[in-house]
Amino acid sequence: MNGIVHCLVVGSPIRHSRSPLIHRLFAEQFGIALRYEKREVQPGELADAITSFRQSGVCGINVTVPLKEEACALATLLSPRARVAGAANVLSFNADGSLEADNTDGLGLVRDLDAHGVALAGRRMLLLGAGGAARGVLPALLGAGAASVTVANRTLARAEALVAALSGLGTLAAAGLDDVFEAPFDLILNATSAGLTSTDGPPVSHSALGASTVCYDLVYGRGEMPFLAWARGCGVTQRIDGLGMLVEQAAAAFERWHGRKPATAPVIEALREQR
Ligand code: NAP
Repeated sequence: MNGIVHCLVVGSPIRHSRSPLIHRLFAEQFGIALRYEKREVQPGELADAITSFRQSGVCGINVTVPLKEEACALATLLSPRARVAGAANVLSFNADGSLEADNTDGLGLVRDLDAHGVALAGRRMLLLGAGGAARGVLPALLGAGAASVTVANRTLARAEALVAALSGLGTLAAAGLDDVFEAPFDLILNATSAGLTSTDGPPVSHSALGASTVCYDLVYGRGEMPFLAWARGCGVTQRIDGLGMLVEQAAAAFERWHGRKPATAPVIEALREQR
């Protein structure tokens, strides 16, 4: 042991990931010597990658698109949050040899919405996407008191499966992405990866928008991303990107690995200044 803690983030694409910077800024708050790298890993290759990371002494792995469900399936121990979501964004190598999966996305989202003064209790929500991110945040939105959540996805069957899996947690409905809705939503969250590699966001019917609808894009980027550009064009005044969530979910992972709770506000500010 050389006193340096080694962590990684894996996914595809991974080049854009700001997790290494975030974890470095957290580590600086406590004088922790941290080596944090990003690695491109394709779907189906995570098991082999994990074996090699374990051999090289990695302590923890952040998992991003599109590997969260695969990560959960490979773990030998699941936190309650990961078990409910069926998706993991944090993997930890425990001293007893187990590979523990956790999901801190929902906690990160709820903390960030709270920081922006967005109340969740009693609200009608539209969640776009049914992939790993949607699975991670849906239980937290319901746990925060959402009146109902409609899950809309390009592949309707995937939205239906997610709704069926979590139906015991609250009032849920499944929809197609281009469905027309009868009443507007209080909060629309984009948890699709549309817009990550193209200029088009997910198509959403204008019927989803009311006078005070808040739009939250889990996707973050150096400029305005397509979903929030669409929301601005529709006259939505409160538009929030996923940078704060990214930092909050990372803070929960950092606390899991290093036993210290980092301050998030200065890190969010530092990242915004870098744009
Ligand atoms: P994933 O498991 O690969 O799921 C992708 C989702 O996007 C699926 O619902 C997929 O629909 C949908 N999708 C992909 N391309 C689309 C398109 N062109 N049009 C419409 N829908 C499309 O990915 P994920 O892990 O859920 O991540 C989703 C996004 O959330 C990523 O951009 C990720 O960066 C972001 N995210 C941000 C944070 C944060 O901290 N801010 C945390 C987690 C995730 P189908 O089922 O039809 O394929």
